[in-house]
Amino acid sequence: MTASTAAQAAYIVAALLFILSLAGLSRHETSRSGIAFGVSGMVIALLATIGLASRSITATGIGLLFVAMLIGGGLGIWRARIVEMTRMPELIAMLHSFVGLAAVLVGWNGYLDVEARASTQTEIAGSLLRIHHAEIVIGVFIGAVTFTGSVVAYLKLSARIRSNPLMLPGKNLLNVGALVAFAVLTVWFVVHPSLALLIAVTAVALALGWHLVASIGGGDMPVVVSMLNSYSGWAAAASGFLLNNNLLIITGALVGSSGAYLSYIMCLAMNRSFLSVIAGGFGIEAASTDDTDHGEHRETSAEDTAALLRDATSVIITPGYGMAVAQAQYPVAELTRRLRELGVQVRFGIHPVAGRLPGHMNVLLAEAKVPYDIVLEMDEINEDFVRTSVVLVIGANDTVNPAATDPDSPIAGMPVLRVWEAADVIVFKRSMATGYAGVQNPLFFRDNSQMLFGDAKDRVEDILRALGTVAARGESGRVGSGRDHPALVGG
Ligand code: NDP
Repeated sequence: MTASTAAQAAYIVAALLFILSLAGLSRHETSRSGIAFGVSGMVIALLATIGLASRSITATGIGLLFVAMLIGGGLGIWRARIVEMTRMPELIAMLHSFVGLAAVLVGWNGYLDVEARASTQTEIAGSLLRIHHAEIVIGVFIGAVTFTGSVVAYLKLSARIRSNPLMLPGKNLLNVGALVAFAVLTVWFVVHPSLALLIAVTAVALALGWHLVASIGGGDMPVVVSMLNSYSGWAAAASGFLLNNNLLIITGALVGSSGAYLSYIMCLAMNRSFLSVIAGGFGIEAASTDDTDHGEHRETSAEDTAALLRDATSVIITPGYGMAVAQAQYPVAELTRRLRELGVQVRFGIHPVAGRLPGHMNVLLAEAKVPYDIVLEMDEINEDFVRTSVVLVIGANDTVNPAATDPDSPIAGMPVLRVWEAADVIVFKRSMATGYAGVQNPLFFRDNSQMLFGDAKDRVEDILRALGTVAARGESGRVGSGRDHPALVGG
């Protein structure tokens, strides 16, 4: 068996392991084995590729390859070990940008290499050379869009730039114009390849990637992250064609198609148009600025909240990003236990994009040992708020924002937890600041809402302490909005 045949056989094994990895990662119970399959596939793929490359590069080249792998692997392990879970999306966005940049460099290398060596040109003569040029320009385009798009996503997710959508005049025309320019430049490059044309394609793609993601509002960022994941897959597949590497083509296609499907189902869950999001908010016009006077908000204290909870019959907790930042899941789990002991029905309502990762809240609550059966998805619990005594909104904002029902709001149409339908709503946050999408939240000014300011963990611990006192005194006066929810009266 030749080295090349052995490498191709290893690639098939690695490709199967990647497919098993994706299958494993699709369920909580099998996710660890999914990771193990993925790591094994990657080790086999790397060894096979080094084996193949070692036939055509010098010993120094191999040495440099290992040095690069050691540095890259070391940095990767270090970052993965120290990253906080709330910062995971920005790390993923940064990694996507590397895939995009790699695809651009592979494309450029493909062009410069062929141009520099007349012998290669005669090797891939005629129509094959045209196909090679088309691969270059497509690979560079997808890679460059992924690169700048991911950099902007990283800057938005890490709050280095504002998450509001950029609304340049004629933004849809700019995007369409860039795509037309790409089509024209591609044909031109295939017929008459030149460095100037390659520079032009790269510049157009870099600008398009930047504009596409900058135009998308904060509330749609979860879809953007999975969309860039998909783009990075297609960029890798394009590099695979250029490098004549079957495994890269298969892996790129797996990542590209699974990322596209994830983006699609996330758009369905968030009532967003898939085409609009992948086209950088195509069709979404600038929302009117919110200068509405929502009135005054009311503040409450941990002691009053404890008394309110003590008298409640049913409580729903809706956690959000702030609970993750405060690491309040442990006292929240303790509060749940105490209230259940007092005979209060406690459940959790989880929004699909609460926090900064799909499933973020579920992971935190599982970590704090909150029983699975009281943690419900938004669709399972949304009808129950109307029959609920108290809702504790712990560090959530966009996911409980009634502005989503306003057609002029930037988050219009996004399904949200209808917490305001409960008798009393207590909002835990540190200030009146807006959430990730940068949209004011009228919930805070409703008659049945009260703000409990401060770090969520500290405030929940204060409530736990106060609950002890309230329980000991056997107090029973209601300290909430002073009114009973119509659905609770007599029920
Ligand atoms: P938001 O990001 O809308 O709001 C979080 C709130 O928590 C803020 O208003 C903040 O207010 C408060 N907060 C922050 N730190 C603390 C703290 N220590 N103690 C108490 N409160 C705190 O959260 P949601 O979970 O409701 O919404 C998630 C948003 O993130 C959505 O817009 C979603 O689209 C987006 N997103 C989600 C991703 C995902 O995959 N899940 C990925 C990327 C983005 P204050 O500063 O006043 O304390």
